[in-house]
Parts: sequence; structure tokens; C-alpha cells
Amino acid sequence: MPVPTPGALSSRIELSAAAFRANVAAFRAVVGPTRQVGAVLKGNAYGHGFSEVLPLAHEVADVLYVVTPGEGLAVRAFEASAQAPRREVLVIGALSADEVVALARAQVDVVVADPSIEVAVPLLRAQGLRARVHVHLDTGLGREGFTPGQLAAGAADVLGRASDVLEVAGVLSHFANTEDVTEQSYAAQQLAAFERSVALLGARAPLPATVRRHFAASAAALVLPASRYDVVRAGIGLYGLWPSTETRLSARVVLGAVPALTPVLSWRCPSQVVKWLEAGSYVGYGCTFRCGADTRVAVLPVGYWDGYPRIASGKAYVLVGGRRCPVLGRVMMNHLIIDVTHAVTGEAPLIATLLGRDGDEVLSAETLAGWAQTIHYEVLTRLGEHVPRVVVEG
Ligand SMILES: *Cc1c(COP(=O)(O)O)cnc(C)c1O
Repeated sequence: MPVPTPGALSSRIELSAAAFRANVAAFRAVVGPTRQVGAVLKGNAYGHGFSEVLPLAHEVADVLYVVTPGEGLAVRAFEASAQAPRREVLVIGALSADEVVALARAQVDVVVADPSIEVAVPLLRAQGLRARVHVHLDTGLGREGFTPGQLAAGAADVLGRASDVLEVAGVLSHFANTEDVTEQSYAAQQLAAFERSVALLGARAPLPATVRRHFAASAAALVLPASRYDVVRAGIGLYGLWPSTETRLSARVVLGAVPALTPVLSWRCPSQVVKWLEAGSYVGYGCTFRCGADTRVAVLPVGYWDGYPRIASGKAYVLVGGRRCPVLGRVMMNHLIIDVTHAVTGEAPLIATLLGRDGDEVLSAETLAGWAQTIHYEVLTRLGEHVPRVVVEG
């Protein structure tokens, strides 16, 4: 089925290659040369675009973390087509036994998070394949991973029994509460639980000496040195955004200075029309906005279908010519109407910035998320896959 191509006037996302590289370098500087920095590419690379971010991340990160088997295989396909060296790739998401086999064949690592891996063992033996696995330990998130109770009951003993086809390459866990706090007492409990669970696991299924530990996502990598282990799994930070205000405050205390993270993504849209509406005119569905004076508006062909949150209606602004221009009335499926009375002269076409820098003004994903009563992670991952992405060097 042919994929519709975007129109010449559709909104577009710009990705700064330099910013991405600088962010990886900032993480390397924080965690030091003995540790690896892995890049998390889930959620369409946090909405930035998987196929656009992959070449950048592949070049500068040590490990690539994805969620779906398709993403794991896409990394191998990219390497084959670009004649790039093979990176370590780990699928951290849920897998069927058949998918474990397919990934083992492609030498993509998989996470073992529960006893269901048992089903894949005879399939791997039948195919003469060995899967590299990372054992996920639930240390207090309550999501995937072996709990201490499961380990004690032998739920991970399959790793010892099937060591001919399951090679344990890593052990990992994931924090529940590092971003929302400036004191890390729950994280400290999780670290202690991790040490106990790794020991319990090792007592039941001997771990190779080469096994690597990874626990920290962006926040912990920055503000919780004990969590850094052998490799950090950085997502949001590599896209140039702080996990939270609390993390930023903690970084100032823990690191002595706040590392510079530079947003990678800008989102811009050309105007469809610029025109004057007379005082008293209504704007948009529901007639929720009425012009108090003659108003120069720009109609932008972008809306909630593209990922601009409708709930931001009545609160949001965009940037034009380095000035804030309020979004008037409701956000529509394919349109935003903005007040450009003071931002431009005349009725010439213009470019609006929905996210990113324009002159002295910066409109951050956190700001848009605030208007939309959500977090920047969600705003970014909801950016439409159909919105064209371009990588720029600067
Ligand atoms: C999403 C995720 C990360 C990255 O989290 P950030 O806060 O974006 O750095 C790391 N590890 C796991 C298991 C994740 O699900």
C-alpha cells in the first residue's frame, strides 16, 4: 500500500545531529570512561523518528535499547545496508518464543524477565542457536522482572539448566522513583534489592564472569553514581531534555554543575494563510475565542492529528519571528490559528515554531506538556509518525 507523502506545507520536525552527539558526550563525561553509554530508541526514538535517530545513535552510543523485536531487527538491517559494524542491541520489551529465536538468529540480545523463556529453549536447541540474554530483576517497580520470591522459588533456574542455549550477558533492573524526588531513598532500597537479587540469581544459576550490570536510566545516571554499574541506559537525556526539574536540581548538587543538555528536536510549520479578522470575529470550533480588536491571524496546517495536544487549547502559544503568538480558540484536527498581529507585518507566508528555538525565545517540550497536563515524554512520543523528519548537521 503506498504511503501518502506529506504536503509541501505540512509541519516538519528538525533533528540536530550536533545536539544528539553533544548529549551523548555529556553523559560520557558524567559517567566516566570506564562505563558505557547506551541509547534508548523506544517509542519511535521518543517521537524523534526511529529511522532518523538510528544512524546518529549507532555512531556514538555503545549499546542500543529498543522495545520491539521489529526495532531490533531493523538495527541489524540498517547495519547491513550501511556496512556499519555491529553494535550490541537489546530488546527490552515482551517477546514470544518465536521472536526470541528470530532475534537470536540476528544476534540481538533479549531480556529474560519471567519463566516463560522456558518455551523458547527447545526451539533454540532445535535450530542450533544460542540467545544472549539479560536477566531483568524486579527490585521495586512492580513491572517486568523476577521478584526475590520468584528467584527463591526457582523461577529463573532455567538459566542454569539451559546454559547451552541461553548465554547470560547481563543483569538489569529499572528504577521506580528517581525523577520525582530530590532524595533517593527508594532508589537506595532498589539498589540494595538488586545486589541481593543478583546474589540469589548467581547462587541458583551461575553467572559468567563477563556478565554486565545495568540499572540507571537518564535520571539515575546523572544523579545517583552508585547506580551507574557497567552501562547506563539513557533515553530522554540523549534527546536533550531533563527527566524532571527535580533531576536538574539534584544534578547541581551531586555533580556541582548542571551538564548542558541540548534539545535535539524542533517542530515547525509554515502558514497556510495570513489574514485580518475584524473585531468581533469568532475563531475556531465552538466559537470559544472572539477577537476583541482587529486581529492578524495565521492559520497553520497542523493539529491534534499531528500530535499537538487539543487540551492545550486556550493556553498555548507558538513562536513567530522570535515572538510568542497565542493559539486562538480550539486546537483542531488539522489546524491551529494563531495571533500574529504583533509578530509580523503584512500577510506574507511565515514559519511558526511549535517546539524549539526562534530568536531569543525557546519553546520547550516541558512547556507544551505543562499546557497539556502531561509530561514531555508523552508529548514527544505522540508526535505523528507521518510528520516528516529531517536531520540537520548543526
Ligand atoms: C524508558 C527506559 C529507559 C530510559 O529512560 P529515560 O528516563 O528516558 O532515560 C531505561 N530503561 C528502561 C527499562 C526503560 O524502560
